[in-house]
Amino acid sequence: MIKSYGYAAHSPTDRLAPYQFERRELGPHDVQIDILYCGVCHSDLHTARNEWKNTLYPSVPGHEIVGKVVAVGEHVTRFKVGDIAGVGCMVDSCQQCSSCGEGLEQYCENGFVGTYNGPVFGGDNTYGGYSDNIVVSEKFVLRITHTENLAAVAPLLCAGITTYSPLSHWKVGPGKKVGVVGLGGLGHMAVKIAHAMGAHVVLFTTSPDKKEDALRLGADEVVVSRSPDEMAAHTNSLDFILNCVAASHNLDAFLALLKRDGTMTLVGAPAEPHPSPDVFSLIFKRRQIAGSLIGGIAETQEMLDFCAKHNIVSDIEMIDMQDINEAYERMLKGDVKYRFVIDMASLKKEGSAAA
Ligand code: NAP
Ligand code: ZN
Repeated sequence: MIKSYGYAAHSPTDRLAPYQFERRELGPHDVQIDILYCGVCHSDLHTARNEWKNTLYPSVPGHEIVGKVVAVGEHVTRFKVGDIAGVGCMVDSCQQCSSCGEGLEQYCENGFVGTYNGPVFGGDNTYGGYSDNIVVSEKFVLRITHTENLAAVAPLLCAGITTYSPLSHWKVGPGKKVGVVGLGGLGHMAVKIAHAMGAHVVLFTTSPDKKEDALRLGADEVVVSRSPDEMAAHTNSLDFILNCVAASHNLDAFLALLKRDGTMTLVGAPAEPHPSPDVFSLIFKRRQIAGSLIGGIAETQEMLDFCAKHNIVSDIEMIDMQDINEAYERMLKGDVKYRFVIDMASLKKEGSAAA
């Protein structure tokens, strides 16, 4: 077994704390990666605190991973020692079902294996990227070509693909007016990607102080969603809305902004349900509410290549592993611009619990 060291939550209320564990021995199709950086997704917090009521403890979160390949199994063909590689939200799927066959492993009919909190036959749950290494089947490892600012690439592995996939699926592009709700980790990637796809982007935020940033990131217009007047100016005008909010809220205010046949896709996954939407608002304009889950492996590679071509990375604040609990509190207050990324070198810092 391969020794691994990271940070884990042991209960919904405990602070994340140092944790030693083991990874499986390298199999013939496996890639072993020393983790350099790991982004902090709001899903990590939902999971660490058991907000989705499905957490297996101890829980080592983290699914925005970039690192260096340090070993490869004998049948690995796409990676060699020394390569920079990425791992996102999934580390396995059945590879047999129709969804897997279509490259939509996230919708695997038999359930994909999450990078963390996923079941592993014969024992533990999977442990994620808040750690110094990971062993992953080659099929689920991504090639990273823009290596200049690696820490800022890490969030593409979840926030990037989770927004790219629905923007692409619902054909966002030139001539389309697209709303993005919530300027957090996902939302700021959605703004950058929708802008690069050529759409007219309207960012909806509850935080008036994020206005300048949103414009800088690529929004054409910014609306403070708590202002009924500002909202009313966009009634019946949007082709598509990507809702990235991590908390329960009233969807009707946004549905009213969709054109006839417009769609609002929810990617935010709050612990508490949204109030039931107004059925008449849907019926009278044939509006749709949809959902979307991360993205498949091939599409994740496509997104990474798209972002490299358009020079898109995440806006990040680097933290040490030891700061994760404070980072969670700040994320809850919306106090992050716009993604925390953990520098895994901090695990080795003198004086830290790891030393
Ligand atoms: P985040 O960085 O915390 O951003 C969430 C944003 O939502 C905040 O920045 C804030 O933006 C807005 N917000 C928060 N509380 C709000 C409230 N009470 N009312 C209105 N707006 C509020 O979170 P994230 O990492 O982007 O993740 C967002 C959500 O997506 C989480 O629930 C996460 O679990 C989920 N997620 C889903 C998938 C998927 O596959 N579907 C993948 C990854 C993450 P403003 O300040 O601009 O209002
Ligand atoms: Zn995530």
